[in-house]
Amino acid sequence: MSTLRICAKCHTWNENQDHCTNCGHLLNPDLIRKIELEKKEELEAGRELDKVDLLLHKIKNSRYILVRAVFYFFYSIWFIFTAIVSFFIAIIAAGPG
Ligand SMILES: [Zn+2]
Repeated sequence: MSTLRICAKCHTWNENQDHCTNCGHLLNPDLIRKIELEKKEELEAGRELDKVDLLLHKIKNSRYILVRAVFYFFYSIWFIFTAIVSFFIAIIAAGPG
């Protein structure tokens, strides 16, 4: 099975190529996606977690089920709270003035 791909850069047709034969531009969509994913992961790994994130991560992955339960309890309260607040904001915004 042969695949024909057109280069996005120079519009040359390439048969069974991952890279453009004319300009070397990457053509394989799977490879493009993979490279983008790797870039993203690299970026996230390089980003330092702040203290709050670190603490939340610790609590979330705690070996004590009670700690995790408390975490999810407050997390759901926070989630409901923000949902209600955003609902009221939407109502206020929808009203005249
Ligand atoms: Zn090309």
